[in-house]
Amino acid sequence: MRKNEVKGIFNLINTSDKICIAGHKAPDGDCIGSVMALYNFLKPFNKNITVMIDGNIPYNYKAFTDESIILKNYDNEEFDLLFVLDTSDTKRLGKFEDVLKKSKKTVVIDHHKTNEGFGDINIIDNEMSSTGELLYDILKASDLDISVEVAVLIYIAILTDTGKFSYTNTTSNTHRKAAELIDLGVNVSEIDNIVYNSKPSNIVRAFIDCVSGVELYYENRLGITAITKSILDKNNADIADIDGVVEYIREIKEVEVSCVLKENDEGTKVSLRSKNNIDVSAVSVKYKGGGHAKAAGFELNENIENAKKIIIEEFKEYFV
Ligand code: 5GP
Ligand code: MN
Repeated sequence: MRKNEVKGIFNLINTSDKICIAGHKAPDGDCIGSVMALYNFLKPFNKNITVMIDGNIPYNYKAFTDESIILKNYDNEEFDLLFVLDTSDTKRLGKFEDVLKKSKKTVVIDHHKTNEGFGDINIIDNEMSSTGELLYDILKASDLDISVEVAVLIYIAILTDTGKFSYTNTTSNTHRKAAELIDLGVNVSEIDNIVYNSKPSNIVRAFIDCVSGVELYYENRLGITAITKSILDKNNADIADIDGVVEYIREIKEVEVSCVLKENDEGTKVSLRSKNNIDVSAVSVKYKGGGHAKAAGFELNENIENAKKIIIEEFKEYFV
């Protein structure tokens, strides 16, 4: 972390009045945790702060999110300072993308290796497990107090993006920072119960329907399934609330790459996970998406059946 960049950020905060904090569309734990942590950290600065996230907040993060402060639609409001967190490219801001043009200064804080740095200040570190972990370093460098509330939000960001501290992005430093957050007052099992052990039964049923549709290709090394509108309708479920299917498919012993196709109005959202050496972000970048080597995604203007064919063909070179 370069000290003068952090200084630059806090200078910008001090000289700004209207501040906006934005995260990526279809927000996950890292996005919500980081955005809400920064929001709460900045509250004592007495600024005019707006939060922008395109998409529903999943049920398990609602307890940590004040949804009343999240803007529903963008009305061309101008900001002195815009923070963009956990968002690897501007398209990922979804319906809030135009806010970039309306902000005097932009600070990008992210851990995606595919992020090319679209801000005035860019703090991008792909060695970090999560945007939350990186944000924690920045907040610590300010030498200001970190409240329990902020600590909890950062912990959630780290916990969820590391798959409970199990993915290869988890380092000894990640654990040290988690330990510091626990010292600040985070109750680990309480958070675990809210984030992971509070699934509504209809969501579990939808999850089971998605998992049971798995198809395996290339001697079981590619696992692929879909979250269709019909599964969601049948179970009265919101797509934002179905999480973990793609990780579950990866748990199959032989699976090297798992893929979940999410049906939406524009076509199909593709989620990819890799177990070992295949870099799924490289495939995603080919289709104008991005992410990490072991977790990446992109959008296709194709229906589920065509998207499936494209994915199977795309991975042929890795498996045949
Ligand atoms: P997920 O599969 O959970 O939606 O996303 C996995 C990772 O890939 C996340 O880090 C996410 O930010 C990234 N990702 C997913 N979809 C896209 C996309 O359409 N564009 C970009 N740039 N990144 C994506
Ligand atoms: Mn992240």
